Amino acid sequence: MNAPGVLYVVATPIGNLDDISSRAVAILGQVALVAAEDTRHSGQLLARLGLQVPLLALHEHNEAGRAEALLARLAAGESVALVSDAGTPLISDPGYRLVLAARERGFTVTPVPGACAAIAALSVSGLPTNRFRFEGFLPARAGARRARLAELQACPDTLVFYEAVHRVGGMLADLIEAFGGDRRVCVARELTKLHESFYWGRLADVRAALAADPGGERGEFTLVVAGAPGAVARTPAGAGDLEHVMQVLLGELPAPQAARLAARLTGAPRREAYALALRFGAPPDS
Ligand code: SAM
Repeated sequence: MNAPGVLYVVATPIGNLDDISSRAVAILGQVALVAAEDTRHSGQLLARLGLQVPLLALHEHNEAGRAEALLARLAAGESVALVSDAGTPLISDPGYRLVLAARERGFTVTPVPGACAAIAALSVSGLPTNRFRFEGFLPARAGARRARLAELQACPDTLVFYEAVHRVGGMLADLIEAFGGDRRVCVARELTKLHESFYWGRLADVRAALAADPGGERGEFTLVVAGAPGAVARTPAGAGDLEHVMQVLLGELPAPQAARLAARLTGAPRREAYALALRFGAPPDS
């Protein structure tokens, strides 16, 4: 009997074709089948890479049904690559059900990492990166969007959103309504492409700058928004960071004392600091 095939989850570029890794090219060239969100789109990428590989459409509307057929190919010893239109599959893209099903059946699932708009935008945003929250697309309906933003208003982590081009202006307006105009934002437009540009600063200023830019509302957008201000002092690594402080104190003190001191130094609740100590493996009443 053949050894089972491997499911490769392969990242493709988000704009600049040179961002594909040589490993991704090798894997795409060696698999029996490429499962793609849009076979025409991915067919063009494969053609540019000089590869001829059979393609099978796997999108949100047929994923559940197609997963079975793909698992059967894996069982028969054929390896499959999953790609999406751009970036990393499963990140606001199809593939979750397939990966889950493959794991549940015990197949090997291997990432071939590469571009991801969220990570690319975050890495150049100038906003804290030690804790961030990927929100992807907010709900399209205005009420549901605003409700989600209201929930996020006090979130201390940097927030990363994807947004469809025709909604960017509305999204900034909603962000200002929910968070106020002073929060910092980095709007990353057309990452890695010819018209790559960034709008950086206060939400209110960035909204005005985008509205005034004739090309401003064209292309693909990722928005990175600062977390709630009260928490900012605790986020950078250093004396204000709870995790860092706890790590240092736990080297010298038992958990209860370390938690009490960490709470005083960082302003975090003592209970949070103590829970962190336990997570770091400190004995409860040492
Ligand atoms: N899986 C992809 C990834 O890894 O980034 C994301 C797919 S999601 C359907 C598409 C969204 O990602 C776009 O609407 C936009 O918000 C963001 N995006 C994709 N490419 C981008 C780019 N070149 N510049 C800025 N944002 C981009």
